Amino acid sequence: MVTRAEIVRHVLAHPGLMDVHSHIGMDPSHLFTNAYPYCMSVEDQALRGQLLGIDYTVSFPFLYTRYFALLPFTRGQYECANDAGCPFPYKVENERLLQELYEVFPRYAQRILPFAFFDPGRLQAEQAAWLAELAQRYPLFGLKTATSYLHSYLGDLLGPGKPLLDLAAKLDLPVMLHTAVLPGDPWGDVFALLQVVRARPDVRFCLAHTCRFSLRALDAAAALPNAFVDVSAFNIHCQLAQTDHPAIAAPAERFATDYASHAVALAAFADAYPERLLWASDTPYHYFMSQFFNDQGERVTMHLACDYETEVAELRKLPAATIRRIGTENSLRFLFGHGARA
Ligand SMILES: [Zn+2]
Repeated sequence: MVTRAEIVRHVLAHPGLMDVHSHIGMDPSHLFTNAYPYCMSVEDQALRGQLLGIDYTVSFPFLYTRYFALLPFTRGQYECANDAGCPFPYKVENERLLQELYEVFPRYAQRILPFAFFDPGRLQAEQAAWLAELAQRYPLFGLKTATSYLHSYLGDLLGPGKPLLDLAAKLDLPVMLHTAVLPGDPWGDVFALLQVVRARPDVRFCLAHTCRFSLRALDAAAALPNAFVDVSAFNIHCQLAQTDHPAIAAPAERFATDYASHAVALAAFADAYPERLLWASDTPYHYFMSQFFNDQGERVTMHLACDYETEVAELRKLPAATIRRIGTENSLRFLFGHGARA
């Protein structure tokens, strides 16, 4: 099997366009509730990249883990399934992704860089021990969580979840964090998350979804040497901005640009945060036709659509030097630290 060092050498020797936020796996809670998206295989993800001229894709599992009982989960209830095959979150899903990539499709091992998913609020020591074991067996490139949809608190990473960040520091794995500004979502609160980033200067973090366009959060991230910001699912966020949806920062708090134009807005962010912005699509979540639950137990539904071709075509409208910066150079520093040279 190819080693992590061999993949890193290859990536650094052949710098190219990177999509640093995407998913591989499946989410039966989406499949059974007519939500979209619900699946993606290693093969499909690799072919998407080849079709659209993306050289490297960072991929992590989907949100649902077999640790949770499925039907309660679709109602926003987080009950352990008592499934011996998955005694803590993401045990099965992380191993499956690594197996599929390195054992079934090793020819894609130099295109797809896998991150492991984690839950900062449940059985953290068990997750950290398992991830350490998986990282011995397979090349692993980072960690990812999306606390909004787990109803877990990021702040736990400074308490009982500390073993997860200690592992990230020890193995030099960057950590990708889902962000939120939506009232009723204390779990993904971008400002709570910034406190974690500030408290752990020994770990590199990426704050996903352009910090939901919150100027204060973006500026705070830019002031922290270990923080990056990705623009995953940018088009549907621009759509939300145009309707002043509460899932993104309110107009008075919002980074000011023309959200009617994807490319104009993307260029404005890239100019404002030249060292920190990372290009990403969130494929296949540039479609988000789904539901989730707020802190009152109320169902929040969204129906947003943008295709992958548009995400890539809008990026390609930017100057070549900007694309190289947010699509390659910054991404390499997020993944591999300051030793990385594009
Ligand atoms: Zn995502």
